[in-house]
Amino acid sequence: MTLRQDRRPGAGRLAPSPTGGLHVGHARTFLLAWLAARRAGGPVILRIEDLDASRVRPEAADAALVDLRWLGLDWDEGPDHGGPRGPYVQSERRALYDEALDRLKADERVYPCTCTRADVERAAAAPHAEDEGPTYPGACAGRSAADAPALGDRPFAWRFRVPAGPVAWDDLHLGRREVDPARLGGDFLVGRNGIGPGYQLAVVVDDALMGVDQVVRGDDLVPSTPRQILLYRALGWTPPDFAHVPLVVGPDGRRLAKRDGSIKLATLRERGVDPRLLIGTLAQSCGWTTSDEPSSPSDWIGALDLAILPEKPWTVSFP
Ligand code: GLU
Ligand code: ZN
Repeated sequence: MTLRQDRRPGAGRLAPSPTGGLHVGHARTFLLAWLAARRAGGPVILRIEDLDASRVRPEAADAALVDLRWLGLDWDEGPDHGGPRGPYVQSERRALYDEALDRLKADERVYPCTCTRADVERAAAAPHAEDEGPTYPGACAGRSAADAPALGDRPFAWRFRVPAGPVAWDDLHLGRREVDPARLGGDFLVGRNGIGPGYQLAVVVDDALMGVDQVVRGDDLVPSTPRQILLYRALGWTPPDFAHVPLVVGPDGRRLAKRDGSIKLATLRERGVDPRLLIGTLAQSCGWTTSDEPSSPSDWIGALDLAILPEKPWTVSFP
């Protein structure tokens, strides 16, 4: 059995999706994730999440590394210099996801679902809050994993059978959270037959096998957490600690997105902006200082307290 969880104390990860340039919002979340790992004395792992083939841009993975380095963040393991838990690019880890899926099939934790393409396509992307779909009505839940061969050429996806009852976790930022995944989305997709795994399964396999101890990410991923906890349990693993941190919003009050071109890190870099100024602004936005003096990420390792961050989403005001 190659799928062994080996949790490493303090290990954290930065997991960009190479679908476009990183922006100031990513910078803040990655700074928090980096500080949390450094503060806990664990390794920082950089992982490229490139499974969503329809959205991935080939040059974006290298660009993410350049952006993160420009920001002053470093990592101990990643696609550029390897490490003991590689490969660090999801598209190179297919065999591991397949093995995990095989285990879920053998244990009848998943069933083949032939529902609409729109449903199926959502499996590949990390479902940020605004893309949450309606609860799956269970149309295919009567099938067992063993029914898949009988579907012949019919396209289908693998859906995880969500057990009844609430799932709780102690979020390092949000505190105690309790969600009933059967009501929030219901049985969820973990992969498409013949095409590949979805975000939920891949991220759980990676975090478990890479020994990630704490997952620090944007609070738009809160709805994914109970699903991921269920996958950890189904695969016999212990979930890491989670911290869901407030998002950065644009001047229009909406989550920062590609449309906010001016605050892409690449744009700032090209304009010759000092990244230490951005770090200073981010530190100020987190309440660690009242001045926006230039600083570097390591200046704030002692200041970080994930439990105490300004509750309101930060409206970007930089440069
Ligand atoms: N790669 C994912 C994203 O960009 C992050 C997933 C995670 O942090 O779990 O949304
Ligand atoms: Zn179905």
